[in-house]
Amino acid sequence: MAEIIDGKAIAEKVREDARIRADELKRKGIIPCLAVILAGEDPASLSYVTGKEKALAEAGMESRDLRLSESVSEAELLSLISTLNADPKVHGILVQLPLPRHIDSDRIITAIDPAKDVDGFHPVSVGNLVLGKKGFIPCTPNGVVFLLKEMKIKTSGAHAVILGRSSIVGKPLANLLIQKGINATVTICHTGTPDFSIYTRQADILIAAAGSPGLVKGNMIKPGAAVIDVGVNRVADAAKKSGFRLRGDVDFESACETAGWITPVPGGVGPMTIAMLMLNVVEAASK
Ligand code: NAD
Repeated sequence: MAEIIDGKAIAEKVREDARIRADELKRKGIIPCLAVILAGEDPASLSYVTGKEKALAEAGMESRDLRLSESVSEAELLSLISTLNADPKVHGILVQLPLPRHIDSDRIITAIDPAKDVDGFHPVSVGNLVLGKKGFIPCTPNGVVFLLKEMKIKTSGAHAVILGRSSIVGKPLANLLIQKGINATVTICHTGTPDFSIYTRQADILIAAAGSPGLVKGNMIKPGAAVIDVGVNRVADAAKKSGFRLRGDVDFESACETAGWITPVPGGVGPMTIAMLMLNVVEAASK
């Protein structure tokens, strides 16, 4: 039976570390502050930003909660970002994705000052990561690597297989895992991979970030592998008041039979994403 990785407990420790560092900055007269922009009323996005704002408050940091209407124009959003870029009291800027369809997300992200890009999505941050230089690392991939380190799961020489090639999870994670010091050998599978199970069965570390509930079954996992489930999918559940429950990309029950370690959903990678954001905000405020 797999050992369950308690992402919530590990994230708590990281958030405590962020709180201590925020306190040190406050003694120097700097209050770390993140501007959180949400356009529209998507319930999942709203719950994500509320979680981030709550975590900031708990870490003794400030948030500027900027709620915009679904119909906000691209020009208005660009103007807001320009104001926040110029505001010395704002250390980080987070634009909750996805943005309404009429807005070009790439243009918005690129408008953020890279020094305030705590999500690590700006092309400058992406370039730094690829080049192995210092810069903001996207929170979810950073959280995944933190979990592996914390659990003392060997990455050096390990074969890591990632399901998903998105710019916020799969690609940055692959770049992080091949860095010197982490030293994994990485395979990325995606919708163009005819049969990903050929690769996942060889994975010492399997990271699922496909956005497809229960996609990875126990028989697709190498015995003893570390399985990190990034997926967060809402599936209908009449027994729940909300009418849904969260399910990962991994079929937890069958995976537990084969894996050596596994992250649950919820309570695995999700809390780590928020914790790593807290560290990035502190880092931005320290500069
Ligand atoms: P995305 O839709 O942008 O990318 C999904 C990727 O998976 C694509 O590259 C696609 O090629 C690949 N894919 C999809 N189905 C596949 C299949 N059947 N076989 C092989 N590859 C397949 O999604 P994303 O933004 O990267 O998010 C992925 C999942 O992770 C979602 O469930 C999302 O909610 C979750 N997520 C969680 C956190 C967190 O903090 N826990 C953060 C970000 C994303």
